[in-house]
Amino acid sequence: VEKTYRRGGFFGARAVVRAVHDADFTLRRGETLGLVGESGSGKSTLARCVVKLVEPEQGTIAYHGTDLRPLSRAAWKPYRQRIQMVFQDPYASLNPRRTVGDTIAEGPVTHGEPRGKALERARELLRLVQLDPGAMDRYPHEFSGGQRQRIGIARALAMEPELLIADEPVSALDVSVQAQVLALLAEIRARLGLTMLFITHDLRVAAQICDRVAVMQRGAIVEQGPTSEVFAAPQHPYTRQLLDSIP
Ligand code: ATP
Ligand code: MG
Repeated sequence: VEKTYRRGGFFGARAVVRAVHDADFTLRRGETLGLVGESGSGKSTLARCVVKLVEPEQGTIAYHGTDLRPLSRAAWKPYRQRIQMVFQDPYASLNPRRTVGDTIAEGPVTHGEPRGKALERARELLRLVQLDPGAMDRYPHEFSGGQRQRIGIARALAMEPELLIADEPVSALDVSVQAQVLALLAEIRARLGLTMLFITHDLRVAAQICDRVAVMQRGAIVEQGPTSEVFAAPQHPYTRQLLDSIP
C-alpha cells in the first residue's frame, strides 16, 4: 500500500511525507511477522492501513482474497472484529472512567452480545492474561504499565480475532516486564492459533517472538524473510546497520 501525509505548514508551505510507498508483505495464517525499523520508518502507518485507522491512496489489502481497501466503513465492520490491535501506550489507550470488566466486554457488547455473557468472558480473559478476577471492578489507572498492557490484550482478544496487530506492545515497559508480556503473547498465540503482526523497533524483541521479519526503511520494506535467516545473514545494508547497532 501507499500512504502520503500532507501537512499544512507555516505561511501556506506544505510538507508531504511519503510514510509508506513500497511495502508488500504476506502474513500466513498462524505465523507472527515482525515489522521492524527505526522510528519514522512507517511501521505504524502500515499497520493502521490494515485496520482502516489510516486510508491508503494506493494498493491492496487482501484478507482471505478480499481487498479491504475500497470497502466502506459499513462493509468493513465484520472484518474489524477479526482484526484487532494492541497499542504501544497502555496509558492512553484505556478509558480511565470505565472499569476493567466493561473495558474488556465493550467490543462484544457493541457487536450485540448480552452484557452478562460478555462480562463472564471478560473474567475468563483476565485469567488468561494472568490478572486477578478482582480487577473486573477496578479502573485502568489502578494498574501498572505491564498490567494495563495485559488489559489491552484481553480487550483485543475479547473479539476473538484471527489477526492481532501489536504496535510496539512492550516498548513502554521496563525490560523485565517486557519479557513477561512477550511470554504471555507467545503463550496466547500458541493457545489460540493467532496470526500476529508484531511491530517493534527493537530487533532483540523481534528475535524473541517473530517467525519472519520485514525490515522497513523510510516507507519501504527493504528485506524480509525467516527471522533466523535475516539475523544470521542480512542481505540489505540497512538491515546490517540495524543489527550492528544492537549493543
Ligand atoms: P515509531 O517507531 O516512532 O512509532 P513508525 O515507524 O511507526 O515510527 P510512523 O508513525 O508510521 O512511523 O510514521 C511514518 C512517517 O509518517 C513519519 O515521518 C511521521 O512523521 C509521518 N506521520 C505519521 N503519522 C502522521 C500524521 N498523522 N500526519 C502527518 N504525518 C504523519
Ligand atoms: Mg509507530
